[in-house]
Amino acid sequence: MRYDNEKKPVLGIDLGTTYSAISRWSEKGPKVYQNPRREYTWASVVYYDERQDKPLVGNLALKRSLIDPENAIIGVKRMMDNGRQKIRLGNKEFTPIEISSMILRDVYEYAEKTTPGFDPTGVVVTVPYYFTSLQSTNTSEAASLAGLNVLGIIQEPVAAALAYGIHMEDSLQDEIIMVFDLGGGTFDLTVFRFTNSNKKITFEVLATSGDDRLGGLDFDAALAELIKEKASLNLKGLSKEEELKVNAALMEVSKEAKEILSYEEFTDIIKPNILQGQHIEIEITRQEFESSVDKYFMKMDTIIDSVIEKASLSRNDINRVIKVGGSSRIPKTDEILSKKIGQNKIYGDIDPDLCVAQGASIYGAFLDGRIDWTKEIDIKTATAHALGIEAAKGQFSVLIPSNRQTPCEVTKVYTTDTDYCEELDIDLYQGSSKLIKNNKRIGTIHVSGLQKRAAGELDIQITFRINQQQSVSVTVVQKESNIKKVENVKLT
Ligand code: ADP
Ligand code: MG
Repeated sequence: MRYDNEKKPVLGIDLGTTYSAISRWSEKGPKVYQNPRREYTWASVVYYDERQDKPLVGNLALKRSLIDPENAIIGVKRMMDNGRQKIRLGNKEFTPIEISSMILRDVYEYAEKTTPGFDPTGVVVTVPYYFTSLQSTNTSEAASLAGLNVLGIIQEPVAAALAYGIHMEDSLQDEIIMVFDLGGGTFDLTVFRFTNSNKKITFEVLATSGDDRLGGLDFDAALAELIKEKASLNLKGLSKEEELKVNAALMEVSKEAKEILSYEEFTDIIKPNILQGQHIEIEITRQEFESSVDKYFMKMDTIIDSVIEKASLSRNDINRVIKVGGSSRIPKTDEILSKKIGQNKIYGDIDPDLCVAQGASIYGAFLDGRIDWTKEIDIKTATAHALGIEAAKGQFSVLIPSNRQTPCEVTKVYTTDTDYCEELDIDLYQGSSKLIKNNKRIGTIHVSGLQKRAAGELDIQITFRINQQQSVSVTVVQKESNIKKVENVKLT
């Protein structure tokens, strides 16, 4: 007896800000599907094609988005905190959940086409570490809407660490690892303690940090500026349409040149008639490119220091760095990591573009009982944001602090602050400020039927529970009034 990992696979999808990938579990470990152009990644872009009156998804959509940005949506992942807002595309409106589901569906269909009789048991989708419960729930909803059976959600760095862990299965040691993820739109750092006993493998998140507006797109823009300058392009007096076209072409050549410069010391950029009578014919060196993005790398340097400090560690304590994300192929990344952590600590035997999808399928196989590991995988994550309620005068009263290990549960006792009140609205917030006005309201629990007492006489006991998937439930208990209310936070 064995699982049919080909026809009835368990899948993992990395739904990235700029690129996505899909993998399945196989007896030999995770296997990533290819798209028809034999590439392993799909642009996370949806474009509404008015001529065909239908949405296009993926790399083709990305191409069209460059010349017709009004009909395209790039980076929908950044809008998942408001999953039901309306986005206009062409003459239609879509929500972020719908757009995400189109991307997931598209990626899934390519996998489906590779295998006759394809009938997966389920899928695990990844989300960034800092995603709130609401954002994760919306992502899961997008996958259900795409017709996928969601086995679970896993955070990207945890998935990457799992992909690393499975590689090292025989020689796993206890160590501190840093997942360094530099993608298209964001920079994410996560420090784990990794322990391997004969019963279980534990991943414990010690600290996270990053910048959600730092990545490959910024490098493309910086290089485009440099190219404009070196080629002495004159963009004065262009119509809006011409300007869009030139910028689109510039972004495209910049991205291509940037990627080549990860392997070559220099590259030629040749683009005749980018504007009537104006040509690009220049050479760009890796050195020039790297200087143009120096400020971003300096920022990353500071963020690395901060995450090590947050984890109460010193640089020498980091045993291993796992590079994730397409932009981590830029050689300057190795340079800063070598200087800071040590060259021999950078783990090279894992694909930075694919390990998140791979890790998701490993987790899927684990949830589905397919891995013949006798060990348990224990993932101890931590909350990325504090959770609490509004206490008097707009103050944020924290129940679960940020960076607290999950699952966890905290109870605090409050009391009424007005006389004889029978009803109460308890506002729930997530955030890091002492004032609720700077935080995000994630729900309200209405309590009615309180016994009429003077202010301060009734004890109101509030419990926040958070599970490993970062789902939150809140319980309110008022003994004398015989009230017990449990709510899964309906994140709105
Ligand atoms: P996401 O942020 O969606 O998770 P990826 O991790 O796939 O995306 O990263 C995509 C980014 O990686 C893009 O900006 C792309 O240009 C960049 N990239 C891919 N390959 C290379 C390379 N060889 N050198 C530099 N950047 C690269
Ligand atoms: Mg990514």
